[in-house]
This record gives sequence, C-alpha cells and structure tokens, in this order.
Amino acid sequence: MYTSIFRHFLMPTYELVKGKNLVEHITNYEEHLTWSPEALKQHQWRELQKLLEHAFKHTSFYPSHWAKFGIHSIADINSMSDFAKLPLITKNDITEHYQAIVATNAEQNIKKATGGSTGQPFRFELDVESNTRREAIMWRGYGWLGAGLGQKTLYLWGADIGQPTLLKSIKNRLYHRFYNRKMLNSFAMNTSNMHTYIDEINSYKPTAMVSYVNPLYELARYIIEQKISVFSPKTMLTGAEPLHDFQREVIEKAFNCEVYDTFGCREFMLMSAECQENKNLHINSDHLVVETVDDAGQSITGESGDLVVTDLYNYGMPLIRYVNGDRATLISEPCGCNNPLPIMSSIDGRKLDIIKTASGKSIPGELFPHLFKEFNGIDKFQVRQSEISSLQILLITNKHFTEQNQNDIAKEINKYAENELQLIFKLVDDIPLTVSGKHRVTICEV
Ligand SMILES: [Zn+2]
Repeated sequence: MYTSIFRHFLMPTYELVKGKNLVEHITNYEEHLTWSPEALKQHQWRELQKLLEHAFKHTSFYPSHWAKFGIHSIADINSMSDFAKLPLITKNDITEHYQAIVATNAEQNIKKATGGSTGQPFRFELDVESNTRREAIMWRGYGWLGAGLGQKTLYLWGADIGQPTLLKSIKNRLYHRFYNRKMLNSFAMNTSNMHTYIDEINSYKPTAMVSYVNPLYELARYIIEQKISVFSPKTMLTGAEPLHDFQREVIEKAFNCEVYDTFGCREFMLMSAECQENKNLHINSDHLVVETVDDAGQSITGESGDLVVTDLYNYGMPLIRYVNGDRATLISEPCGCNNPLPIMSSIDGRKLDIIKTASGKSIPGELFPHLFKEFNGIDKFQVRQSEISSLQILLITNKHFTEQNQNDIAKEINKYAENELQLIFKLVDDIPLTVSGKHRVTICEV
C-alpha cells in the first residue's frame, strides 16, 4: 500500500518541489524490460552514437586520443565492432587528463571519489541528469528483486564516516522514514552487539533486506550457531562485495529467504542484478555498454576478462571504454526468464585478487574462500601477498582450529603454488577493513 502511494503520489510531489525526475526515469527504464533483445541493442547503439558525437564535440581528450588510432570523426565508427577498436581508458588516464575529459559544456557536475583498492582515492564527476538516471537504474534492479522504491526495506550497510550532528541525524531519520527504510550501520556491528541488530530486524519486520555480503554472512552464522529465531523477509539483496556460494547458502538457511546478488561500482552504480527466476546477473545494457577484454585488450565473450564499461548518459565527464578493475564473464545466451537484458555468468573478482608466483603461475582468488570454508575452525581470513616469494595467511580462528588444519591448507595451496610461495600463517584477532569498509579476501601487492 505505502509502496504504491509513495511511487505514484508522495515521490512525484517531492520531485516536483525538488525539480527531479527519478520516477519518470524508473518508469521509462521499466518499459525497456518489455522490449526484445534486438530492440535493446538498437537502442544502445543509438544512444552510444549520441554520446560519441558529444565526446568529439565537447571534450578535448577523446578526439586527440582516438586520432592516434586513426579515428577522426563519428563517421569512422559505424558499428559495435568499430566501437570495440577504440582504445581503453584507465583510472590513470582519467587522473592525468581530468580537465580534458570533463565536457566543455558541463554545468553543475557532481564530484565523486572512490576509496580505491590501494587506498589512493580516485576522482571523477558526472552531470545531475545522469546521476538521477543511475539512481533510476538501481531502483529498477532492486524493484525486480522486490526491494523497489517505497518497499519496506532494512539496509545493513556502511554508514557515513564521522558523527552526524543531531539535526543531521533527525533529518536522516525522517528522510529514511519517507523512503520507508531503516539503516543499520554494518561498520559498527561486532559479535558483542549482534543481538541488537537481530532485535532491530525482528521489530522492524522488513519486506526486503539489502546488505553488504560479509556482515550479513557473519550475522547469519551467529543466528545459526546461537539458534536464534529471526524474522524472515520476502527477499534479500547483497552488494558491494563478492557473494560466494557458501555465503549465500548460510544466509539463506539463517533467514529462510532467497538471496540475490547485485553488482556495481562507484563509477557506474548498479551494473547488473540477478533475476529471481534463474539467479542470473542481468546487465543494464540500456544504460551502460559493458564489454570484457583479454590481456591483449581484444573483446571476448564466454570467458573471463577485464570489464570495460561505457556510461551512455554521463555527458558531464564521458567515461568511454573505461577499465574499472573488475573481472567478469559475459555470455551471449539468453537467460530464459522474461527479462530481455543480457547476462554475465559470473563476476570473477578483481585483478588484484589473483595471487602470483615467481615463475608466472597465477592462483585465482576464488580458491581461498572455497578452501577455507572446509574448516569450521576458521571464522575469517585474508591472504595477503606483499612479495612474490611469499604469502601471508591471516586467520581468525576458534576452538575447533588445529595444527593439522594448517598443514592441510598449506598442502592444498601448494597444489597450485607448487612450493614456490613461502606460506606464513598468522593467527590474529582482527582483520582490518579497507578504507571503504569492505572486507577483502585476497590482496596482491606485487
Ligand atoms: Zn533471468
């Protein structure tokens, strides 16, 4: 009931006052879900041409950069395969040529920054309209998973850094109440206060929950171990961190509720979200161009590659063929559900997550969660490589952990590393989160 009033009355009134058009964009984007895959492709191509024309006309970076590759005007880009020949751009390119990428006709750009995996902030900007559009795309994805605009939703999410003033916190509370949501700070959760988080869930009785993966997984484990009865929402969405199968299983068991993954990044917000039917990640191809490339920069599908993303609507600072640092596998087969958006079969982790050896072997980061889940003596872990010849294994253990476990882990890692890595086990009390409050499973600094 509130959802409908909110979407059709409260929010449009609020937007009239604020001069925003979020609801209109959500409605338009939802309409696209009734189109055929072919119609979506044509739409994407039309919007892409407009963006490229804009970049030629209103940025100084792209025309000169593309000219080096023999592309001098929009007439040289006649198809998606021509587009795939445009050079990739990286975070470094953006930092180095920042002002030349900002559109000369941009007004009132919103400035954003990301923490970055190295702790070095990365800055970019976008225009107001594209910011509203990306919010609309997020709400569409959350909407098909039952956590749309106005649904009673509990967020277990990272809160802003610093202590808000009283006025600000009252304003926040009213704002969230208007949106029909409750925010719990995942950064502040620990084993000694987990029961208060569960009390909040039980008294709020949310229709949907949206959470970072690791805090939710820890909460789920606590619920199972302590045999606590917890309110079961209709749907649960995770994001911001990779969701491993073993985590999904535990969360679904604890809350007796299906869990769906979403995938995004700060530069583009929601890139894909799973469908309820098949739990395939559908890519927002009517808003972004998402590609994958191999190590030589060639387009690939059906195998893991570096993600290359173009935001069709960021006219304030066009990001065209931007390598965002994630890896994924795109496939061309349709999903089989009613959603016509294309799918990615997996998110394969960040490039930094791969552990290396001196002879050039690479051990996928995915190995470690699969391995450590077999040991119930391990509560939390992180593998960290700061030099090519060794690997630190940080473990938070419990009473079930044995020395034999450690030998078994070493044996398993050596199946891949073939004794090239000196394995340094460290039993610790705490594993610090990244600057953006995320837990990283593997960190490779070499
Ligand atoms: Zn689907």
